[in-house]
Amino acid sequence: MSIYVQRRCWNCKEILHGYTHDYRAIGVPFVQCESCLTYNRYDHINEWDLKNTFEKLRYIGVVIWTTILYAMIGPIIALGAAQLFGWDKSNRLFLYSYSAGLLIMTIVSTGLFLADLRTSRERLRDQHYIDTLCKLKLIRRRDS
Ligand SMILES: [Zn+2]
Repeated sequence: MSIYVQRRCWNCKEILHGYTHDYRAIGVPFVQCESCLTYNRYDHINEWDLKNTFEKLRYIGVVIWTTILYAMIGPIIALGAAQLFGWDKSNRLFLYSYSAGLLIMTIVSTGLFLADLRTSRERLRDQHYIDTLCKLKLIRRRDS
């Protein structure tokens, strides 16, 4: 699920990358202003392993909700095909096409989640990135 929000640098009020793509997403939890180089923290994006249980559950809820919504593509295609080929628009057609849409969207959503999880954990293996997260107090150093 995407929401488009214009965010500004808290320091110089310059627009940061114009838009935010994913709402409650897995990703880098800050952005550096290109104008004044100030770090701006995001409260809606974080690495999976840095999200708390509530944030993880909310993220999973959003993924399940969007999967259920996007599964409607199945019946839309099936109804279009039924209209085109003169098939009977039965409840069974709706049920089968929605089930197919749900299966496909579950596979897509799971694949996207696993890809995001993998890149998130790759970022967290970068010491420079860890140092920046510590500096922004987004994580605490384990050895201090
Ligand atoms: Zn700035």
